[in-house]
Order: sequence, then C-alpha cells, then structure tokens
Amino acid sequence: MAAVQSLTSAPFRRGVCSVQIMTRKPIKKSTRFNVFARDGFTCRYCGRKSDEVKLVIDHIIPVAKSGTNDEVNLITSCDECNSGKGVKDARPDMDNENVRLSAMQSMREQKQAARAAIEGVKSAKKIRQTMADFWMEQTGREKADASTISVMLRYAESHGFATVCGWIMKAALKCGYSDTAMGKYVSGIRRKIAEELEAAK
Ligand SMILES: [Zn+2]
Repeated sequence: MAAVQSLTSAPFRRGVCSVQIMTRKPIKKSTRFNVFARDGFTCRYCGRKSDEVKLVIDHIIPVAKSGTNDEVNLITSCDECNSGKGVKDARPDMDNENVRLSAMQSMREQKQAARAAIEGVKSAKKIRQTMADFWMEQTGREKADASTISVMLRYAESHGFATVCGWIMKAALKCGYSDTAMGKYVSGIRRKIAEELEAAK
C-alpha cells in the first residue's frame, strides 16, 4: 500500500524519491495467509472480522524502522485501523471525542506492548525471563510454573511472541488470573487456530 501511495505523495512529486519505500519487499502470499489465520481473521485492534471489514497486514515495527516481513513482526489489522481512522467507525459510541481518543490510546498501547515483546525476543537469553515476567504481570503473582512457561515459549516459536502474549492477556481476563485455567485457555486458543490452519489447507 505504501509503495503505491508514495507515487502520488508530495515528496515524490518534488522528485525526492525514498529508496526505502521503493525497494520495499512485498509480503509473501503464504506469509499473509499464515498471519491472518494465526490472528483468527480478526483485526487485532478493533476485533472486527473479515466478513465486516477488509483485512490488511500491519508491520508492528515499521519497515522504515527496519521492521522485517517475518511473521513475528506482522499483525492482522483492518484497513481502517491501519490508516488510523478505524476506531471511530468500529465503535458507534465514538461520537464522544474522549472515548475515541482513549480507544486510540489503547490501540497505541497494544502496539507498543507487542513491539516491546519483540525487542525482548531479540536476545535469546532473555526470552524465557521475558515470557515469565509477562505471565506474572498478567496473573499478578510472583511465581510462574516453569512447565507452563515452557509451553508458552513453544507456542511463541510457531505463532509469534506478541501473539502468544495476546492470548495470555485474554486468558487472564477470562480465567480470573488462575495459572492452571489460563494455561488451559491458551492451549485451547492455539488448538483452535491449528485446526483452522489444517482445515484451510
Ligand atoms: Zn480494525
């Protein structure tokens, strides 16, 4: 999308052509599908599904800041959220400017958290501690079961660290911050996505 827009944008017309945008690598079809399937064909910002909105792939760390096309750096967004206009249309009660601003703030925070998680993953040594810290932050306890953390790390390898963090957050809300129930809930989400992937083959 950015590549097309850049052709008509002011800097281009002035002859200042950005090399970064012009050499931008397209995301592979298979990668796009994997990311959509991983996120359950749902915009991760507003929660709307593919039957309601047009879904696009969003870079968590922007390409301009050397974000890659790796699945871990990609997230499903609707085109409205992606262009920053989505929140208002997504929620009919958003006439109130304050409500809208706070929703946009929470969208930014979600993105920030995902970005921080990816930064943490860059150092392999830190990954286990990062996951454990995230888990304990969600449960509000100072202990985490080592085998549960191992399971979460295994999920993160195939589904992306930020995605699994999202599942854990959801589980914490649903399961009253119980470690065991949360572990089961996260496993349930992963199983469902694996089944959807299998069915789509
Ligand atoms: Zn959206």
